[in-house]
Amino acid sequence: MKPVCLAVYLAACLVVSVLLLMAAPAGAQWREDTQGIMGTRVHAELWEEDPARGSQLLAMVMAEMRRIEAAFSPYLESSELSVLNRKAPHGWVAVSGELFDLLEKSRSVSELTGGAFDVTYASVGRYYDYRAGERPPDALFKQALEAIDYRYVELDPAHQRVRYTRPEVYVDLGGIAKGHAVDRAIEVLLDAGVSQASVSAGGDSRIVGDRRGEPWNVGVRDPRRDGAMAVMLPLLDTAVSTSGDYERYFEADGIRYHHILDPATGDSARNAWSVTILGPETTLTDALSTSVFVLGPEKGIALIDTLPGIDAIVIDAQGTLRYSADLAPLTASP
Ligand code: ADP
Ligand code: MG
Repeated sequence: MKPVCLAVYLAACLVVSVLLLMAAPAGAQWREDTQGIMGTRVHAELWEEDPARGSQLLAMVMAEMRRIEAAFSPYLESSELSVLNRKAPHGWVAVSGELFDLLEKSRSVSELTGGAFDVTYASVGRYYDYRAGERPPDALFKQALEAIDYRYVELDPAHQRVRYTRPEVYVDLGGIAKGHAVDRAIEVLLDAGVSQASVSAGGDSRIVGDRRGEPWNVGVRDPRRDGAMAVMLPLLDTAVSTSGDYERYFEADGIRYHHILDPATGDSARNAWSVTILGPETTLTDALSTSVFVLGPEKGIALIDTLPGIDAIVIDAQGTLRYSADLAPLTASP
């Protein structure tokens, strides 16, 4: 696949850049850290004059990421999400404002996408083991599939409580929690007065400001060539999320089983290889990248074209790059 350079979101920042470079205080520099959190690589980078302050800000970002992992990981028995999954099939469970808010946001994306995004996908998804190469046992599959429907997660805003209206319902926030974590980490930095930073968790990134006058370059990986990039995006003040079928998968009888499930079938969605969404916040771009992956290129891009301020780059199941309407005129081969 030929790499393409998109002149997306690239404002006339180069003039500003020279001025900023001249104004940069002598000690100021980029500070960065990378840690393994939420089963992925979390990276933060920011511009800060004082080294001690730089380290402190990076530590605050990582602490926020770890706090969110502890709350929403389905793999930790002690997480608030795991407690909910154990108790909500039996009745109302009072939850934190943060969990309630994430469930409400998930529900609104489910409504927007006609159920392509559905956190109850995990009623079936919990029985896949990608590392071990295991699919849900036939004996369980039918009943588990019937438990996929976001409407089985009842939300009571007056009492900030949740219950599941079917016993087999199981919720996993893997399609939205990393985006939420990145947004929260960026909020921490904005509250501290940082004006140039990037935070990413796996395929979800958010960028604040520019990179000393240059745009930040975010690559979209080539889904079928390890280490290669399919597209480079020069970005300013943007959230960007990529969902791909190459992250977690195994193959059986020539079929790729990966971690994005079509809630209608309980099987992996196979109409795309990768989907990248651009927008203002990672919570939304994360959920939409998973959604458009399930919807496939035609329905997915048609949906994105109805949403102002949101754009999509889809690599379809033939390896062809497709863009939402706002991006199409900006694409050009180098
Ligand atoms: P990642 O950054 O983990 O690759 P993605 O944004 O591509 O995440 O989303 C994939 C994750 O979303 C899966 O690991 C799973 O936790 C969750 N998921 C899978 N299918 C769906 C779906 N149809 N609706 C909501 N969440 C899903
Ligand atoms: Mg996603």
